[in-house]
Formats: sequence, C-alpha cells, structure tokens
Amino acid sequence: MVKPFVPELVYVEPRALEYDLGKELVNKFENMGIEIRETTSHNHIRNLPGDNHFQRYRVAKSTLVVGLRKTLKFDTSKPSAEYAIPLATGCMGHCHYCYLQTTMGSKPYIRTYVNVEEVFDQAEQYMRERAPEMTRFEASCTSDIVGIDHLTHTLKRAIEYFGESDLGQLRFVTKFAHVDHLLDAKHNGKTRFRFSINADYVIKYFEPGTSKLDDRLEAARKVAEAGYPLGFIVAPIYLHEGWREGYKEMFEKLEALLPQYARNDLTFEFIQHRFTKPAKKTIEKNYPMTKLELDESKRKPKWGKYGIWKYVYTNEEQEDMKNTLGKYLVDYFPEAKFEYFT
Ligand code: SF4
Repeated sequence: MVKPFVPELVYVEPRALEYDLGKELVNKFENMGIEIRETTSHNHIRNLPGDNHFQRYRVAKSTLVVGLRKTLKFDTSKPSAEYAIPLATGCMGHCHYCYLQTTMGSKPYIRTYVNVEEVFDQAEQYMRERAPEMTRFEASCTSDIVGIDHLTHTLKRAIEYFGESDLGQLRFVTKFAHVDHLLDAKHNGKTRFRFSINADYVIKYFEPGTSKLDDRLEAARKVAEAGYPLGFIVAPIYLHEGWREGYKEMFEKLEALLPQYARNDLTFEFIQHRFTKPAKKTIEKNYPMTKLELDESKRKPKWGKYGIWKYVYTNEEQEDMKNTLGKYLVDYFPEAKFEYFT
C-alpha cells in the first residue's frame, strides 16, 4: 500500500500564520521534524534543492507550500460541474500523463490554502447567483485533494460545508486510498466521492506514486458504506496492446469487489487520453523513459478551452472505445448512470 503523503520540505507564507489552519499545520510539521522555510508567495518557490531539473522536480513533488488562495474567482469545470473550487494545487503522484503537466508545468510543488472560509464565502456567492438551480463544485481540478487531506482536513471541511447547503453539491476524484478520516464527515449525501480507475497496464506503467487499484476499490467500498454517493472515472482511457481485455478485467474486478449497497447510486465518467504540445515537452523532460505514446500524427487535433490544441484519438478510435467500454458498463453495472465520454 502506498503510504499517506508526508512532505520532505514545507514552505510557509507569513500571512498563513494569521489563520488557525496555518498555525496548526506549521506546528504539525515542526513536530514531525520536517524542514520549514518561509516564502513571500506560494507562486514563487525558486530555491528548491537539487543539482539539476530532474532532482528539483522530484523534490518539488514532495514539497508542500502553506499559503493563501488569492484569486477567488473560480474556474468553470465542464462537463462534471459548474465551478472548480480551489482547495489545493499540485499533486504528489507521478502519473506521466497528468493534466497538471499542461496547467502547472513550471510549478510542480503542492500548495494548500488556509483561507478556506473565504473560499467557502465565494462558493456561497456563486450558489446564490444560480439559485434556485443547484450548483456543483469540483474539488479536484488542480490537485488530487484526497492525497493531501489527511494532513489538512480542508476537504473534510468542504464536505461538511456542502453537507449543510441546500444549493450546492461537491464532487472530486482521487487515485488515493487514504480516506479513513473522511468516513465520518457529515456529508448528507451532497458529495459525490469518485475514484479514478484504469486497466492494469496504465496503472502499472503510468501511475507511479498512487494507490494500487485494489486499494482504491477497498477505499471505494468504505466510502459507499459511509453513505456517500459513489462514482468512477475511467481516465485516461488509453489504447494499448490488449486494451479491450485490460478494461474488461478492470470491470470484472470492480464487479467482484463492489458490494450491492455501493451500486445504488453509482456514476461512471469516461475520459480518453489527450495531450498538448507543452505537456508533451514537460512529460519528456520529467519522465524521459516513459512508454506513453505521444505522437501527434496518430491523433486528432481538437481546439481546447485554454486556447491550445489538444491531441485526442481519431473519431473511429473514440467510437471503438466508447462502444467497448459502454458495453462492459451495461453488462457489469446495468444500474449505474453513465454521465459522459469526452
Ligand atoms: Fe495528476 Fe491525479 Fe496522478 Fe496526481 S493522481 S499526478 S493529479 S493524475
């Protein structure tokens, strides 16, 4: 089992110490004997240890910055939610294909924000604007929030915050199995707890540093037992030799491990693998030995919302994966709700 994340190095913005959570985290890390440095801004960590890019990248991935969220304008988060709620940025996982390679290539360290109440106030404003419509907030657009939450409990607070809300719902996705502290959160059914799952091949070659599939499924079982609405995101769907069998085995495993009570309110989302040119450059620099196939000429270009081309599978390949996985879903989980393929 992958151990819960412990940072090797911590940076703190002085203003973070004006917040209870900031003080609490600094005390915690001091007691753990972790080196703590001061930084004027969580966006400018320049003096990370390491002799070369490779070393500094690895250090950054185990560095936690305790700071304040300054931009309180939330990004949109289609198709899974109306808004992305910013609770943290960055991740300790080493998934080669990670979407963060595009969005935060030069700042791979992890940032946690202590001004959580201000973030909630902003969420409240968005909910009021859309009332009486329900507003969904996605908490994992810029990080794997579950992966650091055993340290900060920010996500737990968000779950309880939305648990009391009439107009808001929370959702997030994780590849980590460290969910125990979230099991007693008063979620009131307002949070959809999703796990990212994949074929063995993809997990084995492209997802180092994350929990194994069996551990994620065991965590999913516990989460369902705690009454959370549950979901799975199959992402990224990646064509590799034997992919049909690989994804079939994944569904078989899921079907064998998931108890009936976990299937009452179950959703699935399918997301195909895609990459951008800047992401490809970053991936080749950070994971030079990767087997990840990143050949633009084999893909279909698609204009992305960040004003940049992304490379997705061809129309025929997309149809094939949608039909193949769609059939498995109907065969193994006829009661589940299929949300989208993108
Ligand atoms: Fe990226 Fe998610 Fe992997 Fe973290 S767990 S590196 S956020 S894909």
